[in-house]
Amino acid sequence: MDKYFSTDYAEARSKFLAAAASANVPLWQFEHPLTGPNGEAIGTDIVWLGARNARNIVVAGSATHGVEGFCGSGCQTGFLTENWESRLDAGTALLLVHANNPHGFAHQRRVNEDNIDLNRNFIDFEAGPPDSPGYAELHSALVPDAWDGPARKAADAAIEAYKVREGLPAFQQVTSRGQYTFPDGLFYGGTGPSWSRRTIEGFAREHLAQAERIAVVDFHTGLGPRGYGEIIGRGGPGDPQYERTVAWYGPGVKSAAVGNSASVRLSGTIDFGYRRACPDAEQTAITLEFGTLPLEEVHEAIRADNWLYAKGGAEASSHFKAIKAQTRAAFYGEDSQWKADIWARGQEIVEQALAGVSV
Ligand SMILES: [Zn+2]
Repeated sequence: MDKYFSTDYAEARSKFLAAAASANVPLWQFEHPLTGPNGEAIGTDIVWLGARNARNIVVAGSATHGVEGFCGSGCQTGFLTENWESRLDAGTALLLVHANNPHGFAHQRRVNEDNIDLNRNFIDFEAGPPDSPGYAELHSALVPDAWDGPARKAADAAIEAYKVREGLPAFQQVTSRGQYTFPDGLFYGGTGPSWSRRTIEGFAREHLAQAERIAVVDFHTGLGPRGYGEIIGRGGPGDPQYERTVAWYGPGVKSAAVGNSASVRLSGTIDFGYRRACPDAEQTAITLEFGTLPLEEVHEAIRADNWLYAKGGAEASSHFKAIKAQTRAAFYGEDSQWKADIWARGQEIVEQALAGVSV
């Protein structure tokens, strides 16, 4: 099972493509205009398991948040290697979308090539981006001019004071809800559809038009207890999508709308892209969040990575190696136990999705 997981994007991609070739399943490759850290080609690779005219479709995606892709990629390679196609009935297909954000995965960053948080990018830009009350007040502390010395000290003190005054949940809400006004800031949603969004929505429009039911299972890491896969649904009690989610996955389903999730309430997550592309299909979307480190450490890693590229000069910074390691530890458990936990839970959830969507 360890063998499904990789140490970098290039290895993850080649394992996924090799497993797809062995399984002899249809494959689409979307080359990204930029390259990986060693000049290698990068892209989003999509395979289709099951009948091409299936009406019920489970979409299992990885690396919406780049560096989080180690987790979902390992499961996707496992599904291919262990012949999950043989489990599908004639009306059901399993679509594996490898690396929604290949640039972030390759460069081991959560954001994409434009500092966009892809899970804040699927909003209706024509209607105007949502407000991000409170973010502007914190921006300069979240993105200090320097990582050492008095600038950093003052920034940390401002954040601490905010947490004491407003509470940790408010701090998390204000910083991670998504903002559309500071391109060098945290959880930036962009000013228009990113390469990844155009790729995903284009594929869905072209190939999922016949779908009557779509289940989106988007693999993430960094929130919740270590190794545990928390299911984050959409909406709340009374909302048909939420009720289906609970019926399929059980009472452990969390939702930011209910207020019991490790994540804040978001607009612009990737499932909105599938919904836009396939407006007539009944959609049941979840974010599957596997825990790594405590929340404040993960948040600090996101802040460090953002600083490194916004203000630190990236590779030229003396902090480069340390911050890259900090980021990786925040989003990839890497030990065998963590991988075993991910693989067991990943299988359980995708099985439940396949059963749910087939009813
Ligand atoms: Zn994520």
